[in-house]
Parts: sequence; structure tokens; C-alpha cells
Amino acid sequence: MFELITLPYGSKDLEPVISAQTLSFHHGKHLQGYVDNLNKLIAGGEFEGLSLEEIVCKANPAGGASANQGVFNNAGQILNHNLYFTQFAAKGVALADDGGLKAQIVKQWGGVEAFQAEFVAKGVGLFGSGWFWLSRDANGELVITQEPGASNPVVRGLKPLLTFDVWEHAYYLDYQNRRAAHLEALWQILDWSVIEKRAIGA
Ligand code: MN
Repeated sequence: MFELITLPYGSKDLEPVISAQTLSFHHGKHLQGYVDNLNKLIAGGEFEGLSLEEIVCKANPAGGASANQGVFNNAGQILNHNLYFTQFAAKGVALADDGGLKAQIVKQWGGVEAFQAEFVAKGVGLFGSGWFWLSRDANGELVITQEPGASNPVVRGLKPLLTFDVWEHAYYLDYQNRRAAHLEALWQILDWSVIEKRAIGA
């Protein structure tokens, strides 16, 4: 049985970037719904007992398993939201100046601001509902990718590090159609120490 994650901050801690109302619906209604759906879908079947990553990869419709679209969608959304909600903190935590992740971002993009601009542009340019990601590939390089719907970079062998949600339920109560303004504001509450830990596999 999968359970709804507990948020590592209070309901108003991410305001004004993410309001308590948005958090209440996004975590308490949308994510809870995915958890309830997945538990019903996998009870007694071939996916029961597997991790979310294993379920997503096994049910991946792009791999030909289209009969498992519902399992993929709900497991993917739980995996995506668990990574999303646990990467924020009140007022955020800066990227460490002496850390390996900052050095690699500077090496690949020329600077953190250049990376952030390219990252947000990927989210602004994503048509419809989905997610965009910073991941590490098999060679250790950092890559920015878009994932439609409920998908996650693990289906293509990438290790996900950082993600912003561009389903409208993530921002519409606070920003309406201003997706770019919402994405720009998310940097204020991003806890980079979480991303650094993911990058070194801890
Ligand atoms: Mn969402």
C-alpha cells in the first residue's frame, strides 16, 4: 500500500509562491487521489509490492505496455509529486558555492542563471500538462528534459534530480494563465540541498 507523503513544511510556509489553498488541493486532493487510485489498481496484481520506479518502468506505455496506462499514470504522478513536494522549503536553501552540483552546472551552462533561464524556458514551452526535469544521465552529465502527462525520466534511464510541475492544478489558483511567472517564482522556495543530495545519490 502506498501512502500520501507528509509535507516537510507547514501549509503556509511556501506563501506567496505556493498558497496554502493551492497546497491543500494539490497535496490533499490531487496527490491523495493518485495514491488511492494506484492502491486499487495494483491490489493483488503483478505490480503489488514493487517500488514506484519499478512500477513506472514496467508499466511504461512507450515500451508497449499500453494496457497498463492507468497504473503508469497514477504511479508516475505519485513518484513525480513525491520528488516535487520534498524539494521545497520556506524561503528556500541556496545552491552551495563549493558543491559539485554548482560546479557542474557552471561547466555545462556557463552559470546558474543561464541554467535557470533554460530550465524555465523548457517548462514554458511544454504544451499541455506535464513535467520538466533536471536529471543525470548514465555518463554523469546533467540534462534538462520534458515529460508529458505523468511520465518520469526513469523510463529513459535517467536519474531525476529536480522537477517543476506544469499541470494547471499546480499554479492556476495563484497565477491563473501566468505559467512563466509561477515557474520563475519557484526558485525562491527551492531547497537546493535536497537536489545536491539526489545528485550524489544520497
Ligand atoms: Mn501536480
